[in-house]
Amino acid sequence: MSIVRIALDLPLPRLFDYLAPEASAEDIGYRVSVPFGRGTRIGIIIDWLTTSDQPADKLKPVTVILRDMPRLPDHWLALCEFCARYYQAPLGEVTAFALPPLLRQGKLPKAKKASAALGTPIAEPTLPPLLAAQQTAVAAIIRADSFQTFLLHGVTGSGKTEVYLRAIEAVLARGGQALMLVPEIALTPQLEGRVRARFPQARIVIANSSVSDAARARGFLAALDGTAEIVLGTRLAVFTPLPRLRLILVDEEHDASFKQQDGVRYSARDLAIWRAHQCNCPIVLGSATPSLETFYHATVSRYRLLELPERAVAEAPPGVRTVDTRREKLQEGLSAALISAITLRLERGEQSLVFLNRRGYAPVLACAACGWISRCLHCAANMVVHLADKRLRCHHCGGERAIPHACPDCGNINLQPFGRGTQRVEAALIERFPQARVLRVDRDSANSPKKWQALLTSIHAGEVDILIGTQMLAKGHDFPKLTLVGAISADAALFAADFRAPERLFAQLMQVGGRSGRADLPGEVLIQTEYPTHPLYQALIDHDYARFAKSQLDDRRTAGFPPFTFQALLRAESPAIEDAVAFLAHARTLGEHIATTIDENHLTLYDPVPMRMQRLMALERAQLLVESTNRPALQHFLSLWHLDLHSAKRPRTLRWHLDVDPLEF
Ligand code: ADP
Ligand code: ZN
Ligand code: ZN
Repeated sequence: MSIVRIALDLPLPRLFDYLAPEASAEDIGYRVSVPFGRGTRIGIIIDWLTTSDQPADKLKPVTVILRDMPRLPDHWLALCEFCARYYQAPLGEVTAFALPPLLRQGKLPKAKKASAALGTPIAEPTLPPLLAAQQTAVAAIIRADSFQTFLLHGVTGSGKTEVYLRAIEAVLARGGQALMLVPEIALTPQLEGRVRARFPQARIVIANSSVSDAARARGFLAALDGTAEIVLGTRLAVFTPLPRLRLILVDEEHDASFKQQDGVRYSARDLAIWRAHQCNCPIVLGSATPSLETFYHATVSRYRLLELPERAVAEAPPGVRTVDTRREKLQEGLSAALISAITLRLERGEQSLVFLNRRGYAPVLACAACGWISRCLHCAANMVVHLADKRLRCHHCGGERAIPHACPDCGNINLQPFGRGTQRVEAALIERFPQARVLRVDRDSANSPKKWQALLTSIHAGEVDILIGTQMLAKGHDFPKLTLVGAISADAALFAADFRAPERLFAQLMQVGGRSGRADLPGEVLIQTEYPTHPLYQALIDHDYARFAKSQLDDRRTAGFPPFTFQALLRAESPAIEDAVAFLAHARTLGEHIATTIDENHLTLYDPVPMRMQRLMALERAQLLVESTNRPALQHFLSLWHLDLHSAKRPRTLRWHLDVDPLEF
């Protein structure tokens, strides 16, 4: 018999056997159309066999093997298999997800007319000589001709991108392919332009979710057949097949957008490391504020640390200081020190940025007469006041409604917005500085790539005096006239329940501060706080990431948090919290049983608990944490446990998923 084993996009932890009389082992990696239920589905041939564990008369024949697209290579299948195994996701879901939508549907993109012939070579741009530290870094990366993980640590402007470009250059010169991953928000035409300008002859593929389906499919195929030399993209680009892959770069490696938060919950950074190992090539993780996991690996020499200690252009790093707001009456959230610093910038014709990581006008609308507040009906969250278009919006489920004219409970017409978001600070800045051009940048004002680009363009053109924005502004943009950053309302993250909150705050402030004072103008960062002596702020003042990171690692070691333990979360959601908790309790019993049979006492299964944000989109959510000091032990446990979970009885309305190495709790 000739049987093909197929990965289908179904939430089941198994593969599907079909008869394929004319198939052979040569067909592994082809897409295939098969009958399923009452319709047909597209899958991928994972294996070819002569016998099946299914009874032969139960097997159906394939409809057609789609040999019009080249076979997906073994290295690509192996990556998907690893991803499925590590993140406990069905292989068919991973392969479907890893393919561009068009290819997943069994189609092929229309051929595009060959892009303008490469023709006359464009003159190579003349490059500045590398700084000594850059030189050392580039040399180390180029010399590594086998697997090695580098941590390239340097502040914004220290010349990391320049190091990436030189390393790519060396790879292309040797006929290799390079993969560069960047966070979602950082993939701007600016970066793309810089790469294209440096390699005018190279075929460059851009892979992110805003690229059209046809272009994405074409890019994938160009990478697969080896014609594309550089793939630049967001996390999904990690799944691009590259037969001659010689270098992987992960910029801003600490960025949370590398971890997918739904569906297959993979970390593109971690898969990229696995991939580099698989194809035996170097990988460079770059950041000004590496994740503590990565920094830890560098301190124990598992990764090789490459430091870029100086900025490439501006002489001095920005001066950071705290503004003690304990005894000051703020004007709409702005301290006198910040106001006068902004005034000075206006006089000098420079730009200021007020950083506040909360969009909207105010986080909640309240009635002082009866205590009503603008709760979301579907989530355990408040609806945020958006005064710009007079709506209340839930930032968790997207639900919205008009701002009521009077209190829905008592009819009081004097409803008050409480707290402060970017719109409110924008209004305050316009009132305080009527002569200034104020621009707000957050997900509401930059809600499409086009608008985002327009905002960036006007900032660059110097059409803006004061920016008010969220972390959207923090990444990968070079604003030569920006010399002041004022952070307001940063304190909340110091005492958040999430153990990663300080790490994120430090990274954000460092990053947003790094926006100031490039080119020849020195920068200044003011942090408004009620805790001016807090070690996190003190480390920022001293530009001492390593001190901050080491103290955080000490805390994590004491508390038994990652990177000293490995975690997985089982989450359940259901209309009734009792059902979610009961399912998890049952899961825990199943897990404890497995733990005894596999003789692993490295494993801790905690009690199921309701999630911090228990209600989301009308579903109640609970979770169960599994922890181990030994990653293989945890992996072994999860591989058995998830099979039990798939077959465990549950109410039809209950959904569950596993999140391995979760970032959010
Ligand atoms: P990062 O990626 O760390 O933010 P970049 O590589 O973008 O740093 O460098 C910051 C700026 O300095 C860029 O404008 C870049 O062109 C410039 N630059 C980088 N390296 C050098 C160098 N060796 N000499 C002069 N300018 C440099
Ligand atoms: Zn009321
Ligand atoms: Zn909601």
